[in-house]
Amino acid sequence: MKLMVEKMASDWQSAKNLELPKEELRILLQEAQGFSKKISTLAEISLKIDDTVSRKEILEILQSEIGKLIEGEFCSLNLLNAKRTHFAVNALTQMGTTLNFNHQVFNADEGMAGWTIQNQTSVFVDIATCPSFNEVIEGGLREKGIKSLLLTPLRTSSEVVGALCFGSTHSDAYHTPDKWIIQLIGFHIASALRRVAMFDNAQKRLAQIELVNTIAGKLTSTLDLEQLFISAAELIQKNFNYFDVTIFSVDREAQEVVLVAHSGNYVDFLPHGYRQKLGEGIVGWVAQYGEEITANDVSANPRYLAIAYHHTNSELAIPIKVDNEVVGVLNVEDSKLYAFDETDVIVLDTLSDQLGTAIHNATLYNELKDTNKKLLELDKLKSDFVGIVSHDFRTPLSSVMLAAKSLLKKEQIASDRHFREYLNIIVDQAAKLSQLAEDTLTITKVESGQLSYYFKLVNVETLVKEAISMVKFSNKHQLNYNIELDASFVKGDQSKLRQALQNLVSNAVKYSPKGGKVDIAVVNYSDEEILFSVCDEGIGIPPEQRDKLFQKFSRVDSAEVNNIKGSGLGLWICREIIKAHGGRIWVESESGLGSKFKFTLKKGS
Ligand code: ADP
Repeated sequence: MKLMVEKMASDWQSAKNLELPKEELRILLQEAQGFSKKISTLAEISLKIDDTVSRKEILEILQSEIGKLIEGEFCSLNLLNAKRTHFAVNALTQMGTTLNFNHQVFNADEGMAGWTIQNQTSVFVDIATCPSFNEVIEGGLREKGIKSLLLTPLRTSSEVVGALCFGSTHSDAYHTPDKWIIQLIGFHIASALRRVAMFDNAQKRLAQIELVNTIAGKLTSTLDLEQLFISAAELIQKNFNYFDVTIFSVDREAQEVVLVAHSGNYVDFLPHGYRQKLGEGIVGWVAQYGEEITANDVSANPRYLAIAYHHTNSELAIPIKVDNEVVGVLNVEDSKLYAFDETDVIVLDTLSDQLGTAIHNATLYNELKDTNKKLLELDKLKSDFVGIVSHDFRTPLSSVMLAAKSLLKKEQIASDRHFREYLNIIVDQAAKLSQLAEDTLTITKVESGQLSYYFKLVNVETLVKEAISMVKFSNKHQLNYNIELDASFVKGDQSKLRQALQNLVSNAVKYSPKGGKVDIAVVNYSDEEILFSVCDEGIGIPPEQRDKLFQKFSRVDSAEVNNIKGSGLGLWICREIIKAHGGRIWVESESGLGSKFKFTLKKGS
């Protein structure tokens, strides 16, 4: 620009130095005055352009001011797209707006504007001798009577963003000073356009990053696959203001894509469940080959399938992948030509990745839900079966025990040592089996929520006595029980509490094989609670194994315990029963020194 101004000054200087006739000098002076007026107009317009924040504002200023700079009936700003493959015409004068190529898109090398962009140089042309004559553009201008053109590239220091074009109905209407002016304004417009584009881009990216984040958050929290597709299409279309968004899923078996969600302008035309063959059309192709297609002019894309209702001009289809397999297609369409730029591709690519992750999660969740349902059904079957078997075990076992006990009462049989021994074994083992059946039945009932409780006021002494009576003591053990006076009643289900206490007392005996004292104590624990404890002097429990004992099938892992038969169910049942009574159960123990099992119950009165 500096060079240009210097050249202008030297031209005027040389004109002054020449001894020109007065008339010519007057004309030259007039021209110089006109030129300096234009320079100040140029400065004014430039200042206004400097204040703009959008392309629209720049266009508005040019529409109202450009006529003050250069004479002519026609003026247009021809702007390249981001990929520089095409330019769009924006008329700045009244005549321009009546021309049918206004707002049309042309290849970047079409017409004189294309020539100027490609050659990056200003040019004066007589419309009849254009080096690049386009029937639509130059032809259209000629029809309107335009005879001469002046064009300049819109150039910043680093790139060309388009071309500025002036046209006049006079022949040879433009001269060198006009070229200087148009070059200066062109440079200024290009810089301003670049500035607003950068600003716009930064704003757009920022907004898009925020939106992508929000959408991604919403998508990854949806686990219902159908709902996921619907919200994805809606969120993407509404938030990014896309003309039309569709999501297709891939049906590998049928070798088709199926429309699963739709939001936008074509919703009423394409039915949910609409199918298209894999490989067919843009969407089918993307689904088959897993690569994105950006068709900014669908008529030029051989894969595009024209559909009657469509006014689509641009389409962008992106594969949705899970573990590298295409599971769907995210498809965006627009009625405008060149509707999508690289930012759209980046945004939709990111969203389709998120969608892939969300689909993966939802699929896993659904599989898990199905498996879980099947497991629950199986578990119920198993519980029902175990319940039935355990229940049916009890009657024959009682008969076996009863028969063996009756035989033991017969003198001729009981007097025989062998008979007596065998019968005692039968009674013993049948009792164990019966206990196991009882425990198993209780467990299946607890797990299926079928264990019923009958709460009433329970006399603690009766409860303790009942529990003791059901435990088989050996003469190596001494049993004591002590019940404090103000701990005489609890609220509870007598038979379940008896079962729990009996279990603890029976363990106390079982796990003190060398014998010793078994003390049962019931004391006043707090205003509302009574504390039961069952203490023995048996093998005790190592500290690190105490917590797991109340779990199902859990036993202390030691040689001593391995020698004592047990199923690991009793303490779990105890805990369930105490829990159902609103109490707590725990154990205090030292290895080799015995154990104290304690539990609390609500006071009866
Ligand atoms: P089982 O006695 O049939 O194995 P329980 O659920 O009643 O099942 O007990 C679980 C485990 O807790 C026992 O296997 C045993 O290792 C330990 N245990 C329970 N009571 C005592 C006790 N009084 N002394 C030592 N260990 C005990």
